[in-house]
Amino acid sequence: MRASATSSVTPEQLALRLDRHDEQIDLSAIDYIVINTSGGKDSQAMLSHVVNFARAAGVIERLVALHVDLGRMEWAGTTKLAVAQADFFDVPIYITRKGGYLARAIIRGAGDVERQQLIADGTTKSETATDLLDRVRERGAANPHRPAWPSAAARWCTSDFKRGPARRFFTWLAHQHRDHQALQRPVRILSAMGLRAEESRSRARRAAYKTATISTSVQQVDEWLPIHRWSTPDVWREIHSSGAPWHRAYDLGMSRLSCALCILASSRDLTIGARHNPGLAAEILAVEHETGYTFLPDRSIAAFID
Ligand code: SF4
Repeated sequence: MRASATSSVTPEQLALRLDRHDEQIDLSAIDYIVINTSGGKDSQAMLSHVVNFARAAGVIERLVALHVDLGRMEWAGTTKLAVAQADFFDVPIYITRKGGYLARAIIRGAGDVERQQLIADGTTKSETATDLLDRVRERGAANPHRPAWPSAAARWCTSDFKRGPARRFFTWLAHQHRDHQALQRPVRILSAMGLRAEESRSRARRAAYKTATISTSVQQVDEWLPIHRWSTPDVWREIHSSGAPWHRAYDLGMSRLSCALCILASSRDLTIGARHNPGLAAEILAVEHETGYTFLPDRSIAAFID
């Protein structure tokens, strides 16, 4: 599948939406716009929106997508879907994971995903487990007096398993670009994320545009939340009008995606997630028994298993 003229949003509407962010984004100064995609609805809508925006601005070739693979914690097939969504819009996509590979993914015929490995396993200096469940085990063994699981107050899962690998990708991309172009200046990267204000108070407080979240001699990374003020109906309107495939988890009743069983999820999402990912739920239960700590501070994952 290829995106046809999926102009669900006109250039005028794009300008309006940007105005609502009170932002003036000079895309001509940006080398890459990296679309961080989980394969979930918000990043999918953001991908569609930014593709339209970049087409209207004449910088479509500067878009790349990035999916950070969460391994066993993801719904089966999520990485493949993220690749299919990027392919739908003709946007090159890279996939990576903590302490592991970085690959460029390409769809070959019948939806088969081929990975061209760019950085092999074990090339990072990560000294901790590269899988979230193994990391919980490791923390439990290292210090039995400290909660083994991440929580809203100690959200190390996001920084270790999502933000860290994304930063590694930015550095790799910047080095590639500098070498290729023989640049003497930092590579300018715009990191676009599908976070929305209505999801939580902390997300509502975030600026829709933040400059220099990373600033080194090699790269300058700005952060952009293109759909920060969108409502859930806005998101689904964009998805339906684009025609791109969405994740089956929403058809099963999930309100959010990412880890199939998330420490921040609602009871309803945890129940649906456990029902459709029984192997993962059983493994979480086993890790609870091993570490002596429950998945949520006040409840075992058993509370959500039918
Ligand atoms: S989806 Fe939930 S459990 Fe997974 S990394 Fe994010 S906050 Fe942590």
